[in-house]
Amino acid sequence: MRSIQDLGTDDAAQEALLCALDGKHTLVAIYDSSDRLVFANSAFRHAFQLRRDDSEITFVDLVMHAALHRCGTRIEGEDALAFIARAQDRRRANPGQRSFAAELFDGRWFWMTETLLDNGWLAVVGSDVSQLRSTDEAWIAAHDRVIQEARLDVLTGLANRRHTMASLGLAITAAQGAETPLTVALVDLDHFKRINDVHGHAAGDAVLRDFGEVCKRATRQSDIAGRIGGEEFLVVFPGTSVEHGASAVERMRVQVQNRRVSIAEDHVISYSFSAGVCRLEQGEDLNATLARADRALYSAKRGGRNRTVTWSARLA
Ligand code: GH3
Ligand code: MG
Ligand code: MG
Repeated sequence: MRSIQDLGTDDAAQEALLCALDGKHTLVAIYDSSDRLVFANSAFRHAFQLRRDDSEITFVDLVMHAALHRCGTRIEGEDALAFIARAQDRRRANPGQRSFAAELFDGRWFWMTETLLDNGWLAVVGSDVSQLRSTDEAWIAAHDRVIQEARLDVLTGLANRRHTMASLGLAITAAQGAETPLTVALVDLDHFKRINDVHGHAAGDAVLRDFGEVCKRATRQSDIAGRIGGEEFLVVFPGTSVEHGASAVERMRVQVQNRRVSIAEDHVISYSFSAGVCRLEQGEDLNATLARADRALYSAKRGGRNRTVTWSARLA
């Protein structure tokens, strides 16, 4: 077997090599020791919109030309001069080879290998790896989706119990650290067993979904709303006083009073909830806060349901 040095001028092996280096998916460029582009294969010329007779182009010219005409390498989040400064620091820093990924303006990704020769010439070969890149992205998206789904309650699309409790734990730690208020509301749908018994389980599910929508619309990005049990929900308002938190819950309660859930053609039903609200006290943990919210909820149920009760010392 021969090596590259053994190849003659009219050699079939040399021709095969040159042919391989002139493929559509391979970029080849050679710069001399003054960083002038002395060779570029057709894929490289095409990517950088260069003509065959373009001559005396230096690396700096090439980058400026690419930035101006939005071709060649995509320069993200910095200007062309900063890109040049950064690239020049690296291009000839070490003898031998260095490799890196580069995105082109046309969206393709190339794995570039630069070889610095002893005479100061620099040979660049890039292979199209767009396919690998999109597989990577698909994997990352699938992974993110699985994580996201593991946090959701399938029926309502709200956070599930585990994720709600974990978020509440973090919110409590943050509120204690920053000494900001935090209000929690335990919400339980009223006479829900009766809805199931009278209208069927599917109707019950429709009501739960409807309440999920109310929660999503009524809460802000920074709030936490989750389904923590069959027809029990937790809403957390970080950075919110108990008065404002209780008013937000009251607004939800009034909205729910006006909702009509369609359970069959020409058949709608209404529902209500009771809520227990309390604020996080200094030094208190998650369980103690929830226990007080539960006391307030119990009081709301005992008081006749369809109401919001804020915890006070008389409930202790
Ligand atoms: P209260 O006003 O005192 O809260 O009465 P309630 O009937 O709402 O409370 P109870 O705890 O007696 O009943 C809750 C019912 O919720 C019983 C259970 O079958 C039903 N349930 C729990 N999870 C689901 C669900 O995912 N879908 C449906 N349709 N029903 C559910
Ligand atoms: Mg309940
Ligand atoms: Mg209930």
